[in-house]
Amino acid sequence: MKELILGKSVKGIEIKGYFFGEENAFNKTLIVGGIHGVEPQSKEFCDLYVEEMKNLPFPDDAFVCVIPGINPDGLAAFTRGNANGVDLNRNFPSSTWKSSPVSGNNAYHPGSAPASEPETKIIVDLLKKYNIKKIIAIHTNHYIQFPNPPMINYDGDQSRELAEQMSVASHLPAHGDIGYPTPGSMGGYLGFDLKKISITIELDDSKKSPELYKKHSRLFEVAVLG
Ligand SMILES: [Zn+2]
Repeated sequence: MKELILGKSVKGIEIKGYFFGEENAFNKTLIVGGIHGVEPQSKEFCDLYVEEMKNLPFPDDAFVCVIPGINPDGLAAFTRGNANGVDLNRNFPSSTWKSSPVSGNNAYHPGSAPASEPETKIIVDLLKKYNIKKIIAIHTNHYIQFPNPPMINYDGDQSRELAEQMSVASHLPAHGDIGYPTPGSMGGYLGFDLKKISITIELDDSKKSPELYKKHSRLFEVAVLG
């Protein structure tokens, strides 16, 4: 396992990545949690995975980078967005990015430009640096406007098979449509613009992370080996 500082948040907090496996493996996966600061279990869920993997042998033909907390400022302040009030999950440089938030709701503020935020840039740069094949974004179903059940959401037909395998392993239903518009989302950018395997996990926000991990952590194994 290698621990690297990938960059800093708006407020200067270091953002860490944990790397397992061989960098030149074909099968590369990126796992990102803590995108929304009001969803702390999504970071803790990834932390628990890193802790578990530290003590286990990792397969030779796979590579994974885990970023448990991409939005440390939001996590510290318990805000959805980063310290600039930008929803990172609406700030990706996708073909759907819009300069004004959906329904005029500032909780979904997309930023001044696509990938304007340092936290978003870390992911965009990482995708360029490593030829990442699959991206798993961990969220909880904390909502403002659109209630949605816990699920595995996938973007693009190429993501469907893995989503269904993860669904069996984790007992979460797989859906190709999250049920509300998400312009500039990470999943949409990766799945529809870059045509990568893009999976967004929505965990039950009412549950604590150890319980969520016990119930659903097998999804990581399937995602990394898939
Ligand atoms: Zn979220």
